[in-house]
Amino acid sequence: PLVLGIETSCDETGVGLVVGSTLLADALASSVDQHARFGGVVPEVASRAHLEAILPTLDRALSDAGVALSDVDAVAVTSGPGLAGALVVGVSAAKALALGLGVPVYGVNHLAAHVAVDTLEHGPLPEPAVALLVSGGHSSLLRVDDVTAEVEVLGSTLDDAAGEAFDKVARLLGLPFPGGPHVDRAARDGDPAAVRFPRGLTGAGAVARDGTDHRHDFSFSGLKTSVARWVERVRDEGREVPVADVAASFQEAVVDVLSAKAVAACQAEGVEHLLLGGGVSANSRLRALVQERAERAGLVVRVPRPGLCTDNGAMVAALGSMLVAAGREPSAWDLGTDPSLPVTRVQG
Ligand code: ATP
Ligand code: MG
Ligand code: FE
Repeated sequence: PLVLGIETSCDETGVGLVVGSTLLADALASSVDQHARFGGVVPEVASRAHLEAILPTLDRALSDAGVALSDVDAVAVTSGPGLAGALVVGVSAAKALALGLGVPVYGVNHLAAHVAVDTLEHGPLPEPAVALLVSGGHSSLLRVDDVTAEVEVLGSTLDDAAGEAFDKVARLLGLPFPGGPHVDRAARDGDPAAVRFPRGLTGAGAVARDGTDHRHDFSFSGLKTSVARWVERVRDEGREVPVADVAASFQEAVVDVLSAKAVAACQAEGVEHLLLGGGVSANSRLRALVQERAERAGLVVRVPRPGLCTDNGAMVAALGSMLVAAGREPSAWDLGTDPSLPVTRVQG
């Protein structure tokens, strides 16, 4: 079956076309430039941009794939989590298309789609697996027994998401929004050992005073504050901020924690496969360090190419295709949006 996937949860309008686990097209329009001067995504601006981009992006996907709209057998759409007004555009479009075509519509979880997208590159997911999901709004360790049905949360961030930390530190360093890719690039010329920034919730800090176990959880707000203080002090002393060194040292602190905890979660779960997903998994240092540590621990890592790590329509089509193949029920026609859909709910 030919599955159309629609993504509009944040600032990317994505339309993907997938047959089985074969990617036919992945068209993308981004409103990122319109948000840059605000230093973050402005929801109303994003909604309007989706409205303008959705049909041209659909047309581009169809022509890239060389198929007609009438060839589509099912429509999948991100129904949550994400920005309320942005999600509405995608879900409305998906329902109208599906209804017009007489095909089923599947509301899917954006986060599960970040995990499922790897099937387009590397085939069926090894299950059970542990997934490190790191994006602009979320950072979690998941146990995935069947991504079409069951995702269990092993741990999450207690404060900022990893991508959010990258974006905030980038801003501090005067790098453009979204900061992740810019920090990644700046860090290449820096010394990751220049400043020893804190690794939140590691070592003795992994267990709270009240005994709560935070082994699989993350915390990045202390790190962000620590970078801010350090930069402030250097500026107060009238010295120039060594941007590359700070970027590399900050990045090292984040990916050190992410990779160590991902490997530890696999070991705790007795699971051999580690999946990476979400925008931050495009980070070059994270990819390298996870690979190195996982290999040493006898684990197998799967990570999509960077272009599939950040938001896109192909990931939604990929999960939709898996739901169809698994014989899951489509959504009802009153499918709505859920801006805070929990990752445990694969279908919205
Ligand atoms: P969510 O998936 O949680 O709803 P989102 O959809 O906005 O959030 P994604 O597109 O999955 O997020 O990821 C965007 C985030 O990834 C941004 O914070 C961005 O800075 C970060 N990011 C992208 N590329 C890199 C990179 N190379 N290094 C570090 N961070 C990166
Ligand atoms: Mg984005
Ligand atoms: Fe995302």
